[in-house]
Amino acid sequence: MVAMAGIPVRDAPFVSVGGGMGSFITVDFLRVAGNVSASDIKVLSNLNYPWQTYEYLTRVSQLPRDKRIRSDAASRPDNLWGFPSFAMRETVRRKTLAPLMQVLLEPVFADFYTPLLGDVFDTMAREADRIRYWDMLERGEVQVLRRRAGGGYFVLLTEGGDGEGAGRLSAFRSRDVHLAVGYPGLRFLPDMQAFRARMNDFHHVVNGYEDHEHVYEALRRRPGVVLVRGGGVVSSAVLHRLITDRQQYGTGTRIVHLFRTYYEGRHGPHMWAKRPGRDGFAFQGFNYPKSAWGGQLRSRMRKLEGSDLARKYEEIGGSTTPSRRHWRRGLRDARDGGYYRTLSGTITDMRLADRDGDGVVAKIEVPDGSLDIAADYVIDCTGLDGDVAEHRVLGDLLRFSGAGRNPLGRLDVGRDFELRGTDNGTGRIYVTGAAAYGGYFPGVDTFLGLQLAAQDVVDDIARRGYCVHMGPARSIAGWLRWVTNRQI
Ligand SMILES: Cc1cc2nc3c(=O)[nH]c(=O)nc-3n(C[C@H](O)[C@H](O)[C@H](O)COP(=O)(O)OP(=O)(O)OC[C@H]3O[C@@H](n4cnc5c(N)ncnc54)[C@H](O)[C@@H]3O)c2cc1C
Repeated sequence: MVAMAGIPVRDAPFVSVGGGMGSFITVDFLRVAGNVSASDIKVLSNLNYPWQTYEYLTRVSQLPRDKRIRSDAASRPDNLWGFPSFAMRETVRRKTLAPLMQVLLEPVFADFYTPLLGDVFDTMAREADRIRYWDMLERGEVQVLRRRAGGGYFVLLTEGGDGEGAGRLSAFRSRDVHLAVGYPGLRFLPDMQAFRARMNDFHHVVNGYEDHEHVYEALRRRPGVVLVRGGGVVSSAVLHRLITDRQQYGTGTRIVHLFRTYYEGRHGPHMWAKRPGRDGFAFQGFNYPKSAWGGQLRSRMRKLEGSDLARKYEEIGGSTTPSRRHWRRGLRDARDGGYYRTLSGTITDMRLADRDGDGVVAKIEVPDGSLDIAADYVIDCTGLDGDVAEHRVLGDLLRFSGAGRNPLGRLDVGRDFELRGTDNGTGRIYVTGAAAYGGYFPGVDTFLGLQLAAQDVVDDIARRGYCVHMGPARSIAGWLRWVTNRQI
C-alpha cells in the first residue's frame, strides 16, 4: 500500500515519535549506553528542540527560566549518571557553596534544592550537540503508526518546516518505535468547558497551563478579584505571581482560592504514609514519595496488577505542592493583609457577571450549602488532559493495532515499557511519559522517571540483541566522555 501510494520509504532501525523531553532522554540513553549510532535513529517531531513544549508549559504556568522547577538536583535529563548534580554545577557557576549547603541541609533545615529552569535547558542543549541530536531530528507531524508485513513498523510523517519537502508524506520503516507524545491537550472541568463553549469567553476563565499573561496585565491596570482553583504546584506558582505583582506594583488584587479537598494537618492512608498539610495544601517535595523512583514503592508497584495497582495510585496520588518557605511567606502576608482567603468546595456553574461581559460569577457548592463568588478572572490550575484516545496516533493504536488501556485508562505497557499487544516479529513499540502513566511505574512522566524508563527500554533492546548493554567499564568511559564534552 505504501509503495502503491508512491510514498518514499526511509529506513531507521529505531524511531522515536514526539521529540520532546521523553524522546531526548531515550535517544540519549540509546546513544550513550546502547552505543547506537546517530544514523540508526530518527526522532520525528513537530518541535524545533526537545524542551520546547516543556518550556512553553512552565513559562505560562509562571515558571520562567530564572525560577526553580520541582524535581531534585540529580534529575538531569542531559546526564545518565546524575553526577555531578545540578547543585554542584550551580555551585561552580555561581562560585558559592550555598547550593551544596542546601542539599546537605534539605529537607529539614532548608527546602529541597531544585535546579533553575535555565540550567536544565542549557545542559540539554550541550548534550544535544554532543550526541548529534540535530542529525536525528526530522521535523513534521506523525500521522499514523502501523505494523509492517515482514516485522517492524511503518511510521507515516507529513514533513514540516518550510523546505521543498514540506507537506510531503514519508514512511519510516523501522524495527522499534518509541512514543513519547506528551499530553494531548488541556484538561477543562465540565463547568469550565460549558462556560467557555456557551459564552465563547476565553478571556475571563483561563487554564493555568495556557497563556494567560493578559490577566496579570489587566490587574496591573485595574484592581480585581481572581478566583484560583486547585491545590497543586501550578496554583502555588500562580498565587506567588499574583501576590508579588501586588507587592511590587500595588495592584490591589484580591484572591479567593478554592480547594476541592482542604487539608489541615498530617493525612494519609496509614501511619507510614502520611504527608503534612496546612491552610488547604497537601505538602510533598516531589510528585510522589521519593521511593516511587527507586525504593520500596517502585519495587512494590512492579508486582501489583489491575485494581490493586489502581488503589495504590489512589493512595499516593492527589494534588500536592512543595512547601517552599518564600511561597508560604507570601501567602501569610496576603492572608494577614486581608486580600487572600480560601474556600473548600466545587464549582457547579459559571455565568457572566453582567451583560457587558465583565467578570464571572461562580456558583460553589461548599460543605454547608452553596454560595456565589463574583470574580474578574478565574484561573483553573487543575491540570492537563491525559485521555490517550484524543491523540491521533495513540487513538489509532487503540482502535487498530491491539493496544489496550491500563487500570487508569492510559496505554497498557509492560515492565519494560513495551506496548502490550503490539509486538510485530522482531519489532516492539515502547511508550514512556504521560501516555504510560497508570502502569507499574508512577514516576514515568518526570525527568528521572523518563530516564529510568529509558534505561529499561535500552536494556530490553540489548537483551533482544540490537544494542550493547552498558557495564561498569563502559559506564565509566562514557561518563569521562560526558564530563569532557566529547562528541559521540
Ligand atoms: C508545568 C510543568 C512542570 C513540570 N515540572 C517538572 C519538574 O520539575 N521535574 C520533572 O521531573 N518533571 C516535570 N514535569 C513533567 C515533565 O514535563 C515531563 O516529565 C516531560 O516533559 C514529558 O516529556 P514528553 O516527551 O512525554 O512530552 P513533551 O516534552 O511535551 O514532548 C512530546 C511532544 O511530542 C510532540 N508530538 C505529539 N504528537 C505528535 C505527532 N503526532 N507528530 C509529531 N510530534 C508530536 C508534541 O510537540 C509534544 O509536545 C513538568 C510538567 C509540566 C507540564
